[in-house]
Amino acid sequence: MYQTTYHRAGSIDEAAGLFAKGSEARYLAGGHTLLPVMKQRLAAPSDVIDIARIKDLVGIEVSADTLTIRAATTHYDVAQSADVRKAIPALADLASMIGDPAVRHRGTIGGSLANNDPAADYPAAVLGLGATIRTNKRTIAADDFFQGLFTTALDEGELITAIAFPIPAKAAYAKFRHPASRFALTGVLVAKTRSGDVRVAVTGASQSGVTRLPDMEAALKANWSATALDSITVSPGGLMGDIHGSADYRANLVKVMAQRAVTAAG
Ligand code: FAD
Repeated sequence: MYQTTYHRAGSIDEAAGLFAKGSEARYLAGGHTLLPVMKQRLAAPSDVIDIARIKDLVGIEVSADTLTIRAATTHYDVAQSADVRKAIPALADLASMIGDPAVRHRGTIGGSLANNDPAADYPAAVLGLGATIRTNKRTIAADDFFQGLFTTALDEGELITAIAFPIPAKAAYAKFRHPASRFALTGVLVAKTRSGDVRVAVTGASQSGVTRLPDMEAALKANWSATALDSITVSPGGLMGDIHGSADYRANLVKVMAQRAVTAAG
């Protein structure tokens, strides 16, 4: 047994204050990562600060060029949102593919990004769409946020408050899911921005976590079509290999998923 104290924060400031007082505090959002980790005794926080009911952390807003999703918004609410479906259908599709209904009803976008699992879906969307992560201290560009497996630019106690997505001209996400966990064995998000730039991000494949694919971005900028990727060879070097799939297998999946995503984006 170990002692932990549960707190339910009513505001962002209260959550940050409680975190600062704890000797080894952790925020709790959907709990779909933190609670299993605690049950396995891989984490033993002194204080667990529940942020799921902070009103300022829940909700979705859309303007002419930006879709903003607050951090404690569940995957289910993103998948079901008419605003998300209209502004960035790829994001609603991605959220609907996460885990199972229990995971989607509890898991949150902020928890997924803070955790930065190398096989999680949202990191591909945030990096592929060039989103901005807002915290209680600053804003962080997606290109600076993800820093390797389970590692982000967040400082100790820094709380993600919202994610702002620029609305693209077109985008789609293609995922080859693990049949048991539903995590991405490989997932690729392709996006064409309104200014004509192309971004491609892959999750589930690289040993460094979510990453962009510059060769594919250049090919698609010149010719937005699945066949533009025909001549690209994805190297298995630096890709994950495990009991679920070798690095060679994943290298093939990266290209196949990218081509499927371009076709789906239209
Ligand atoms: P929590 O478990 O509450 O927290 C995770 C970590 O993030 C903790 O360290 C916590 O302190 C920190 N944190 C939480 N919120 C914030 C915040 N706002 N600011 C700073 N730090 C914060 N994910 C996928 O992408 N695809 C899948 O297919 C998928 N399948 C799953 C299947 C199963 C069976 C399970 C259990 C999980 C699966 N997940 C999948 C993960 C799930 O999507 C959760 O979103 C993810 O575990 C973390 O979100 P959470 O809200 O549950 O975070």
